[in-house]
Amino acid sequence: MRTFDVIIIGSGLAGMAAALHLAGERRVAIVTKRKLLDGASSWAQGGIAGVLGSGDSVTDHVRDTLSAGAGLCNRDAAEFVVAGSKAAVEWLIDAGVPFSRDEANPEQFHLTREGGHSRRRIIHAEDATGAAVQGTLAEKVRANPNIQILEQHIAIDLITSRKLGLKDRRCFGAYVLDQASGEVETLAAPHTVLAAGGTGKVYLYTTNPDTATGDGLAMGWRAGCRVANMEFIQFHPTCLYHPHAKSFLISEAVRGEGGVLKLPDGHRFMPEHDERAELAPRDIVARAIDYEMKKRGLDCVHLDISHKPADFLRAHFPNIHSRCLEFGIDMTRQPIPVVPAAHYTCGGIMTDLRGRTDLAGLYAAGEVGFTGLHGANRLASNSLLECVVYARAVATDILAQRRESVPTLPDWDASRVTDPAEEIIIAHNWDELRRAMWDYVGIVRTRKRLARAQHRIKLLTDEINEYYSTFRVSADLIELRNLVLTADLIVRCAMLRHESRGLHYSVDYPQTSPIAVNTVLTPEG
Ligand SMILES: Cc1cc2nc3c(=O)[nH]c(=O)nc-3n(C[C@H](O)[C@H](O)[C@H](O)COP(=O)(O)OP(=O)(O)OC[C@H]3O[C@@H](n4cnc5c(N)ncnc54)[C@H](O)[C@@H]3O)c2cc1C
Repeated sequence: MRTFDVIIIGSGLAGMAAALHLAGERRVAIVTKRKLLDGASSWAQGGIAGVLGSGDSVTDHVRDTLSAGAGLCNRDAAEFVVAGSKAAVEWLIDAGVPFSRDEANPEQFHLTREGGHSRRRIIHAEDATGAAVQGTLAEKVRANPNIQILEQHIAIDLITSRKLGLKDRRCFGAYVLDQASGEVETLAAPHTVLAAGGTGKVYLYTTNPDTATGDGLAMGWRAGCRVANMEFIQFHPTCLYHPHAKSFLISEAVRGEGGVLKLPDGHRFMPEHDERAELAPRDIVARAIDYEMKKRGLDCVHLDISHKPADFLRAHFPNIHSRCLEFGIDMTRQPIPVVPAAHYTCGGIMTDLRGRTDLAGLYAAGEVGFTGLHGANRLASNSLLECVVYARAVATDILAQRRESVPTLPDWDASRVTDPAEEIIIAHNWDELRRAMWDYVGIVRTRKRLARAQHRIKLLTDEINEYYSTFRVSADLIELRNLVLTADLIVRCAMLRHESRGLHYSVDYPQTSPIAVNTVLTPEG
């Protein structure tokens, strides 16, 4: 057993920011299942929203957040995050993140605008903001002697008082598989932070990296935490459509800077769906694309910004421009083929404004958490902001408590498992699950399709659980077990919502109820 003051599961923006805030006074372990920089945060392109420009205000940013959230945002959370946005961005600037400057006024940072925002308020580092932020924080994390980085270590489950036969509901750490040695380690700490990111890999098509398998969500749920609003999965409207382009996202900023969506025959269709056209919130744009594709049997639609000067495009979108060129698409001269793909999980483990979950000693920050900020739909670029603000809130809460010790924890018991006889079941079930979720629990839902998905998920769950209790754990098996649970939680939430709101659209319940209510699931036992 290894003991720390704080264990952080995940090295995305939420995890690294929390670690840096804590490391002045606590010994911190960052457990991360791949390399330090792997995760959605490094992939973020557009930027970070905040009240930064002179014409902007907390009131305006909160209003845009609530409007995108379709009546379901927690106003306290929105006000808390937006009020903390300036300090959050300044913390990143002080850390040395090379945000882009305004060409006309190089004293100032350049602010861009994205769908649903009434102002230019997105600070960015060209079109690769996440890489710039994560690269900067990773250097600081690596240089900090109080932070121990455990790469290629995948957390399997949290260790709670229940496991020790104790009465109070508390978390004492986690079992973690060291993928190099194959050994399961017991990590103990009075405080554990789930910062394990989202769940995009539960869908066949996603913009998310391979790390987004719902591990934090599943671990929190199994440990006894409530989960909310998992039906609200944001589908990014514009993922590059190309057989060899795995999850490459074409940033919202392309539409923000004047890109228009067209059918293959050149007809611009968004004005027929919403008066805000391409700048409508993402769910509306994604549903419009889905509608046009299904109606006309299209494989994709086109995003065209070739009317803008080539120099402007190369300067503002160097990353997107060069990635598209790798696939033979020159965005300065031709439209980009795009499709929607699963992008962001609005629901998650329920937390309060301090990031506390239902279990004492357990916190959640970043995409894994449900703070209520996003409501039924996330406003673009509010998620990186949420990571930074809640990472600080979690750290502040932990630092305000006195140091506690943890009891001796039992080691992982591998006495009843053997080496797997064959691994094809993992690959097969993984594919089957993601396809079923895509086909039955996608952008437009029906009761019948959800019931079909639930039936499939039940069969897969039984099979996977049997496999899990028989064979030695591996990273793939851990992720698959978490994915199938994530799928189950999404479907259960979707079935409970008898209306259409924000990202959840049901053909059977097309109306929006006058009263907005969160879908809250409580684990048994
Ligand atoms: C392509 C793309 C572009 C985006 N662009 C923007 C944008 O411009 N602005 C914006 O605000 N948001 C954007 N988002 C969303 C935003 O990037 C994410 O919501 C945010 O980065 C989540 O940060 P996080 O720290 O919660 O999780 P992540 O950054 O995903 O980090 C999760 C970490 O947990 C680790 N992990 C997971 N499971 C385990 C386990 N079992 N054991 C150990 N480690 C584990 C992962 O390896 C990873 O290190 C984008 C997302 C994508 C995919």
